[in-house]
Amino acid sequence: MTSTASETSCVLCGHPATEALDPPRRTLARGLDPGDPSYSVTVILPDIALCAKHSLDVREGALFVGWCDDQRCRTYGALGESSACGRPYERLGQSKRS
Ligand SMILES: [Zn+2]
Ligand SMILES: [Zn+2]
Repeated sequence: MTSTASETSCVLCGHPATEALDPPRRTLARGLDPGDPSYSVTVILPDIALCAKHSLDVREGALFVGWCDDQRCRTYGALGESSACGRPYERLGQSKRS
């Protein structure tokens, strides 16, 4: 595994990240062409970088990571918390475990 840029920081606390969870895929319903309602875009979000503490919390289900899809943000944060644009972070589909 190649190490990524050292300035990668935890999406929740800003401390140096030690782990990156696989990014969820998200299909955006809105399109570039307002005349075509069926237009959708699947985006692959960036890895969820987490520090050791928060990666444990997320794996244990004690904490959820949300995503703000506002163009000004497009960042992860703690689910339900307000993002920089003022909208709360939305729930993402968690990676399935079976
Ligand atoms: Zn953290
Ligand atoms: Zn936002």
